[in-house]
Amino acid sequence: MHKITWIPGDGVGPEISDASRAVIDASGVDIEWEIVDAGVDVMEQYGTPLPDHVLESVRRNKIAIKGPITTPVGTGFRSVNVALRKALDLYANLRPAKSLPGVKTRFEDIDLVIVRENTEDLYAGIEHMVTDDAAESIKIITKKASRRIVKFAFEYALQEGRKKVTAVHKANIMKCTDGLFLATAREVAQEYPQIEFEDRIVDNMCMQLVIKPELYDVLVLPNLYGDIVSDLCAGMVGGLGVAPGANIGEGIAVFEPVHGSAPKYKGMNKVNPLALLQSGILMLRYINEREAADRIYEAMIAVLEEGSKVTYDLGGSATTSQMAEAIIARM
Ligand code: NAD
Repeated sequence: MHKITWIPGDGVGPEISDASRAVIDASGVDIEWEIVDAGVDVMEQYGTPLPDHVLESVRRNKIAIKGPITTPVGTGFRSVNVALRKALDLYANLRPAKSLPGVKTRFEDIDLVIVRENTEDLYAGIEHMVTDDAAESIKIITKKASRRIVKFAFEYALQEGRKKVTAVHKANIMKCTDGLFLATAREVAQEYPQIEFEDRIVDNMCMQLVIKPELYDVLVLPNLYGDIVSDLCAGMVGGLGVAPGANIGEGIAVFEPVHGSAPKYKGMNKVNPLALLQSGILMLRYINEREAADRIYEAMIAVLEEGSKVTYDLGGSATTSQMAEAIIARM
């Protein structure tokens, strides 16, 4: 039996959480959920959107799945998501992008995995005004963080039977920072002779992805490029309603959809549960419950192929819960 923290989040988080949890439970996997609330709805009660007991629950159980959380405006709290990543040192952001039958996009047969470094780069937030008319931001790249993210990409490739890792950078211009990332990636690649390794300059990578995406497999990127390229890839497979993700550290992982809390749809039972459900499938694979993961995935594909029980963003009129019920019925 697994004990896993579930943070429903706010906005549409609770409704996609109910739908996704019902599907995961119906797969027969033995999980005891510890459901804890975070986000704007608990601000008043706890004075913070991320109460200590939520963080403690994730630390204790080591695995968590969460719905989106609104970033409160004007409270001085940057973001619950960023706070969680920092507090738990969730250094790897994993975002698979795989075409789904029945989900119309401009691209077919996309099967990419984006591994984004989550802790440094321009996201370290070290910036200031030099004068009223000039601002400066400092880009931090360390060998330690580069090494562990590239190692993560190779280990993931090995575990999932993938063939190639591509390091993405701009080392031709940023010779120190991206140069260090690339040199470190090359070093780590030597430790994995069974996996092909190559590198691409980020602008060329973007062009290649829309022209010949089939040439790529696992991409590993520093924080900023990872942020941009992962959204590009999410768009190639159907956008926010279906894009799953995970933030992973040493022996600890938080699975969550890429999308935010979509406040305008809150309480309407309308949005697509698949981004969160697919994050759940990723989680089941991570905890080695592969059979349950495959069962849910196949039922989900059957519902997408059949096409009548899908949410508005996929051209249907099913509600969040109806789509989940259809997946459960297929299982
Ligand atoms: P958003 O992702 O919440 O929504 C943008 C639009 O995308 C929605 O209006 C909707 O049209 C569509 N959409 C999103 N999720 C969908 C789904 N499951 N099914 C169908 N359509 C979907 O982005 P936003 O409006 O920029 O952000 C809202 C709030 O969420 C902000 O406070 C932001 O900070 C926060 N946010 C949180 C996370 C997170 O918790 N990890 C991530 C991104 C944004």
